[in-house]
Amino acid sequence: MKSDSNKIKKATISAEGLSRLISLKGEARQRLWEEAGKVQEKVVGKKVFFRGLIEFSNFCTKNCYYCGIRKDNRNIDRYDIPDDAILSAARFAYKNRYGSLVLQSGERSDDRFVERISRLLYEIKKLSKGELGITISLGEQTRETYKEWFKAGAHRYLLRIESSDEELYYRIHPRDEKHDYQTRLKCLYTLKELGYQTGTGVMIGLPFQTYEHLAKDLLFMKEFDVHMVGMGPYIEHHDTPLYRYREQLWPLQRRFEVALNMIATLRLLMPDINIAAATALQAIDPMGREKALKCGANIIMPNITPTANRKNYLLYENKPCTDEGADDCTNCLNVRIAMAGREVGYGEWGDSKHYRKKPPSIPPVGGRN
Ligand code: SF4
Repeated sequence: MKSDSNKIKKATISAEGLSRLISLKGEARQRLWEEAGKVQEKVVGKKVFFRGLIEFSNFCTKNCYYCGIRKDNRNIDRYDIPDDAILSAARFAYKNRYGSLVLQSGERSDDRFVERISRLLYEIKKLSKGELGITISLGEQTRETYKEWFKAGAHRYLLRIESSDEELYYRIHPRDEKHDYQTRLKCLYTLKELGYQTGTGVMIGLPFQTYEHLAKDLLFMKEFDVHMVGMGPYIEHHDTPLYRYREQLWPLQRRFEVALNMIATLRLLMPDINIAAATALQAIDPMGREKALKCGANIIMPNITPTANRKNYLLYENKPCTDEGADDCTNCLNVRIAMAGREVGYGEWGDSKHYRKKPPSIPPVGGRN
């Protein structure tokens, strides 16, 4: 079996080898997943870290072609959770020793929004005595805004490139100044330069996408030297422009398997980064996230958004856990994680080991644990 393991590792050296790994099926795929699981245990250990996810608003100023909460979709109820409800969700995460949370919303960059986020970050740090780590996922912003939010207490930022191939990027986004590929790249570099633990990710199984595109995405992550990744299968939403290409898509099961191949291959390519088990995996396979935890993923994002609003944050269809309370999510996750042979790192930030190798010059609020 040693020769299998060597062959798999060798394949990660070239774009062709990566495409081959990403497209594996059957027993060969199983061996890839096992190999990635072993590397994961050896390098980042068995621990899985929680990031309590608060999707606090579905107002968005952009129009990405794949997204159910895009600005032009008039068929959804828009919501914006009041600050006190966001803070009580943060208190829930703190009391339940989640270690970290994620604040996510549609993209806005008006002054009121920017100030509100700063205020919330300070408040969350205060209520948790600096102990909750905070990831934000609030899209493209100016350098000043990123700087202000870092100072206010956010220390991780997730900004998905969605596809690193410029041509494909413009097939899934309008080609205009609000959806500019170069701006997205620039934002990623700015975040890293400012000291954020920086994450990106892509969608897997998009129309027009090939294994070569996906291999290129992994090489992009390696070259950018990303600290963390959140990626999952593309799931079509009927109220979006990309829906008209649904006939061209891989079957859902194939998208799911290729997503796991991507996670496993990335774990081999970048052994010490953090990789999230995306919720979209569970939308296809009820045990999707657990399978991801076995083959490379080490981060899970329990949804702690107040239940009433969850059904309106549908970036894609059949999103799971939209009607469960946060407590239900915690209980079901504990069992699921143990079934995957992993354990929860309660009360820990669980920062990317890769980031810790080169820490930023300004330490994040609350220190590093
Ligand atoms: S993907 Fe993000 S920026 Fe694009 S429309 Fe959806 S919420 Fe807005």
